[in-house]
Amino acid sequence: MSEPGLDAPERCVQCGGGGMTRLPMVLTDGTEVLFVSCHSCEQRQWLTEEEGGWTALPIESVLARTQKPTR
Ligand SMILES: [Zn+2]
Repeated sequence: MSEPGLDAPERCVQCGGGGMTRLPMVLTDGTEVLFVSCHSCEQRQWLTEEEGGWTALPIESVLARTQKPTR
């Protein structure tokens, strides 16, 4: 009853709305993240699951992990 990814936040951290798009993704470096997008306020976050809960990744970090190595 505790599969990973099923206990992600169901409400927007910004407006508390429940209309969220939740899309599991794997970044280029292998980091598993959950992209969440709020229908009400268009808040977007990339969350990583860590011990004890979900942590929001800064957009800079997401972009850095999405880029292919340059060498
Ligand atoms: Zn919202």
